[in-house]
Amino acid sequence: MKILENIEKKIKMTPQRAAILKYLEGNTSHPSAEDIFESVRKKYPMISFTTVYNTLQTLKDLDRVRELNIDDERKRYDPNVNLHHHLICNNCKKIVDIFIDFPLDISEEEAQGYTISCRHVEFYGLCPKCRKTKNKGQGNRNRD
Ligand code: ZN
Ligand code: MN
Repeated sequence: MKILENIEKKIKMTPQRAAILKYLEGNTSHPSAEDIFESVRKKYPMISFTTVYNTLQTLKDLDRVRELNIDDERKRYDPNVNLHHHLICNNCKKIVDIFIDFPLDISEEEAQGYTISCRHVEFYGLCPKCRKTKNKGQGNRNRD
């Protein structure tokens, strides 16, 4: 399901909401509500953070965005609701998609009566950019 598919039948469209949807469509940066607010308000200075937040909640309820609780500072949003996994940088919190098909099926016994609605694997580490900076820091320390 694409984020914009038949969306005008599901939510009342306003120029602000349209701008939020346009920002999210195809966005792979896993933005926070703050990121979306900062970007959209460049074009719509009157938009409130509450509008952004409420729109995200509505989209979440409609299964048009996935809310990610993997950044402990802020919730992040993913317009790709299809099954995929994430690489997370412990330093800058950059989140990157992984599309590997992991064998994630569990037996009925392992499910312990739960109905499974989401399967998600998270890999934590350092992104290439942060690795470079960290190595540089190490070098300086060694010279002292
Ligand atoms: Zn990083
Ligand atoms: Mn993703």
